Amino acid sequence: MEDLCDACGYDARTWDTATVADLIEVRAARITALLEGAGDAARRRPSADVWSPAEYAGHVGDALRYHRYLLNRGRAEDRPRLDVPDPDATEVVAAYADLDAGAGAALVREQAARTAALVRDLPVADLGRRIDQGDRVLDLALVMRSAGHEIHHHAGDIAAGLGSPGPAAAPP
Ligand SMILES: [Zn+2]
Repeated sequence: MEDLCDACGYDARTWDTATVADLIEVRAARITALLEGAGDAARRRPSADVWSPAEYAGHVGDALRYHRYLLNRGRAEDRPRLDVPDPDATEVVAAYADLDAGAGAALVREQAARTAALVRDLPVADLGRRIDQGDRVLDLALVMRSAGHEIHHHAGDIAAGLGSPGPAAAPP
C-alpha cells in the first residue's frame, strides 16, 4: 500500500482523485495493448522467479479489486480493522497460471474501468477516512493513490517482460 516507489518512480503523494483515475485508465490501455499484441509471449516467464506478463495481469486485477474493497469498507464503516492479505498465497498465484494474453487483458480492462470509476467518484470529504490494516493506519487518499501504483508499477513489469519500454513515472 504505497503512493511513493523508488523502483518505478511513482510519486502520487499530491495527486487528486481525477489524476489517479486518469492514470489507471491510461495504464490499463497500455497493458491491454501490450498483451493483445503479445500472443504466446504473454505466458513466458523471463526467468523462473519472475512472473510472466499474463501472471502480472492477474495480479493487477486482484490488486485493483482489493483496493476497491478497501475503499468501500473504509467509506461504509467507521475505521474498520482488517487483516493484511497474502498476495503470494499459493492458490492465488496458481490461478494466474491459467491466464493467457486475452484473458489477462480482459481482466485488467474490467478491473481498471471499475476502479477508475470508483476513484473518480470518491468524495474529497472521504479521503481522510481511515482503516486499520495489520499494524498500519491507512487513509483512503493513500488507498486510492496506491491503486494507481499497482497498475503503474506492473505496467512496467509487463512491458519489460515483452521487451518494451515501461511507462513514464509522470501522470498522464
Ligand atoms: Zn513501483
